[in-house]
Amino acid sequence: MTLPKLASRRASRTEIAATGWMSDSRQFWSARAGIVDGVSQNSTITGGVAAPDRNGLGGIRVPAPLASTDDEGRYQAAVSKDPRFDGVFFIAVTSTGIYCRPSCPAITPKRANMRFYRSAAAAQEAGFRACKRCRPDASPGSPEWNIRADVVGRAMRLIADGVVDRDGVEGLARRLGYEQRQVRRLVTAELGAGPLAIARAQRAQTARILTETTALPLSEIAFAAGFASIRQFNATIREVFAVTPTELREARGRVQRTRRLLPPLSADTAAPGLIRLRLAYRAPMDGERMLGYLGARAIPGVEEVREGRYRRTIMLPNGPGILSLAPAAGYVDCELQLEDLRDLTAAVQRCRRLLDLDADPEAVTGYLSVCESDPVLGPLALANPGRRSPGHVDGSELALRAVLGQQVSVAAARRLGARLVAAYGKPLSRPDGPLTHCFPAAETLAAADPAALPMPRSRALALTGLASALASGELVLDPGAERDRAEATLLALPGIGPWTASYIRMRALSDPDAFLPSDVGVLDALARLGAVPAGTGPAARGRAARAAAALAENWRPWRSYAVHHLWASLEEKDR
Ligand SMILES: [Zn+2]
Repeated sequence: MTLPKLASRRASRTEIAATGWMSDSRQFWSARAGIVDGVSQNSTITGGVAAPDRNGLGGIRVPAPLASTDDEGRYQAAVSKDPRFDGVFFIAVTSTGIYCRPSCPAITPKRANMRFYRSAAAAQEAGFRACKRCRPDASPGSPEWNIRADVVGRAMRLIADGVVDRDGVEGLARRLGYEQRQVRRLVTAELGAGPLAIARAQRAQTARILTETTALPLSEIAFAAGFASIRQFNATIREVFAVTPTELREARGRVQRTRRLLPPLSADTAAPGLIRLRLAYRAPMDGERMLGYLGARAIPGVEEVREGRYRRTIMLPNGPGILSLAPAAGYVDCELQLEDLRDLTAAVQRCRRLLDLDADPEAVTGYLSVCESDPVLGPLALANPGRRSPGHVDGSELALRAVLGQQVSVAAARRLGARLVAAYGKPLSRPDGPLTHCFPAAETLAAADPAALPMPRSRALALTGLASALASGELVLDPGAERDRAEATLLALPGIGPWTASYIRMRALSDPDAFLPSDVGVLDALARLGAVPAGTGPAARGRAARAAAALAENWRPWRSYAVHHLWASLEEKDR
């Protein structure tokens, strides 16, 4: 197929220059053969295409890059050097033995010499080395893995979170409820490499980041990146980047001097556990609204937004940490203070989910703005093409906070959160200014006396009931959670209604297609736009909610983005 719009786009140099971390190994796009077969393709490239049910996407529309997943489409993408395809697939060149991102400025496409891979790991396994110029391993993740609800999508989210490094393929399979060999077969069939190879590619990337951005000894980096031995670390780095770890570190200084790709190594960087890196994303990004949204909800003691940065405490698999994020042109500046460096992979992944950095906003905006029969969202989407749907760094925390926010204002929920943190939060051993505690663990709140909680009894029982389900493992809200199952479990708990369940789905599980038809903000925004009847009584609200739900059918599979467009329209009016 042709890519008229994309071919005319200029590759964004800033994106290429941003040596984002990246990736998670969610840089893989499955170009599964057949995924575009028999599909009625939308001729406007930004529109997305309807996918048949059998591909596991449930018949939803999927983002435009999918439309290019035959080799001819990929070749066209390479010619256009469009950075949107970075992370979606990889190009290897047989004459040089190097693999690149599609936007690499160094590739002069000779069709006969090009091979296409769906993962960096597959290119590595085929013997290709990562291009030093475009850093294909630092691409943003493929948006596919946040969209897909099937087992491969769940597996990719878990691998990105470091599950294979911590618990092996066995732990991954257990988490998915499948046999190991089934997981291996399914992942390999789509990505051209198995879970171990994908995790290994991710470790190599983590090791490179640490080598280039910290003053840590290489021996410590090997273990922080998840390698079992120094020998394995040396061998992998040599294989993937064609240099030794020492050469990688020496090369860093030269790269920085000549191209200013990397953040400066400040004296602080030598502090134990402090890591500074750049997170790549697909432009555009409305960082200001993201910070405003997070800032309005920031719980004192745990979070703050100040001078263009969002900072917060976080509990990771091996210990606590503090993250600090500042959206910039072409990348997000990210500082991580980790008690245990083995948590780096998970910490980066959680930052990415929080800020929705793997999204393809052009596909979302394109889709929402071409719904011509729907003049409601089109203007909002076109006016705010960088809108994101914020996720969260900790699914359990988000869920507990959703209960705190039931039927109270955002400001009241924030005050309530602060009281809960002061009473039940885990104090940091090294507080950092206003950041003093981690949000209370589900186990702690499960054991709390509902009568002692500063809220009405029914809500206190909802909170402790939810905390118990999370603590016992009955309810799991991690990146690998099955969304439908988690929602069903939530709705069966006392005091959890459809609004709370959908909000948790949207933010804790990063579902791009959750909708909140009864939400006060959504209804107010739609009423102001004249799209649903206004009115305050329960009957009027009910009618409006039904009208909103019907309208939102047009916005699938991007209803979470629609919710944020609507909320943001109120924020702008309130200013
Ligand atoms: Zn390259």
